[in-house]
Amino acid sequence: MTAAPSLRIGQGYDLHALATGRPLILGGISIPFDRGLQGHSDADALLHAITDALLGAAGLGDIGTHFPDTDPAYAGANSGVLLQQVLRHISTLGWRINNLDATVHAQAPKLLPHIPAMREKIAHLLEIDPRLINLKAKTGESLGVIGREEAIAAQVVVLLVSP
Ligand code: MG
Repeated sequence: MTAAPSLRIGQGYDLHALATGRPLILGGISIPFDRGLQGHSDADALLHAITDALLGAAGLGDIGTHFPDTDPAYAGANSGVLLQQVLRHISTLGWRINNLDATVHAQAPKLLPHIPAMREKIAHLLEIDPRLINLKAKTGESLGVIGREEAIAAQVVVLLVSP
């Protein structure tokens, strides 16, 4: 008789302000837009939310503890590199990703055309089949900081399995 696999769920959330003079990096890809996300690193809200979801599922705290935004080492950091560091960490502990579901909240730009490329990039970073990743985009219905195009936010749920 084999033991039942162990499952752990994790969720992540992140929000960054939109600012002029910054490139828009979301889901690890560059998206043409006249503004980008403000932050200490490349400010990729979606990759940050994924990183936090993985850390949460593995019971390892949060992205700010592992990569402090007061540390000059992470100024302009590629969030994909940080995500892969966390992936290595949880892999070492025996976890693999069962599936990931994410929602990006952005009034502008329209993200739908970029979802396939974001999904491919995230699958590549996480070293999993793109079919294990579901990405959704929502506007802010012209309400609040999202709707006024002042910020972009991301929510992620991930399920880890340990055989
Ligand atoms: Mg962030």
